[in-house]
Amino acid sequence: MNCPFCHNQHTKVVDKRDSCNKPVTRRRRECLKCKKRFTTYERIETLSLYVVKRSGKVEEFDRDKLKKGILTAVKKRRIADETIDELVSEIELKLLNGKSNYVKSTQIGDMVLKGLLKIDKIGYLLFASVYKDFNNLADFKSALTNLEN
Ligand SMILES: [Zn+2]
Repeated sequence: MNCPFCHNQHTKVVDKRDSCNKPVTRRRRECLKCKKRFTTYERIETLSLYVVKRSGKVEEFDRDKLKKGILTAVKKRRIADETIDELVSEIELKLLNGKSNYVKSTQIGDMVLKGLLKIDKIGYLLFASVYKDFNNLADFKSALTNLEN
């Protein structure tokens, strides 16, 4: 936090008013060089992600829930827990770096599918059958076609 008068880097907080429920904290600071005082407003950046479900319902992103969902779908495949954990972290990071805090659940599902395709092809099919709610042979065949591409 530079002094706005002399641009000195060293300042001290002389008064802090914590407004508990507000995301912005107002601080009085004093420059250690020119002794002038100024006010800063500090915003706490929260990294929240929200998932928009197919039903339109919005939920906070829960990485444990996502991991459990994948693990349940591919449990017959003995994929290492760490591998799934890595995939979830990769997806989470991508989402956090995205433009919006709101992500469609279908977008997350597609990211999981893409990741599983690289990890375990049968796992990919298992997850796809749960996630895409396969009802018939045609659905399964189209997933298989994706595998071959
Ligand atoms: Zn100063």
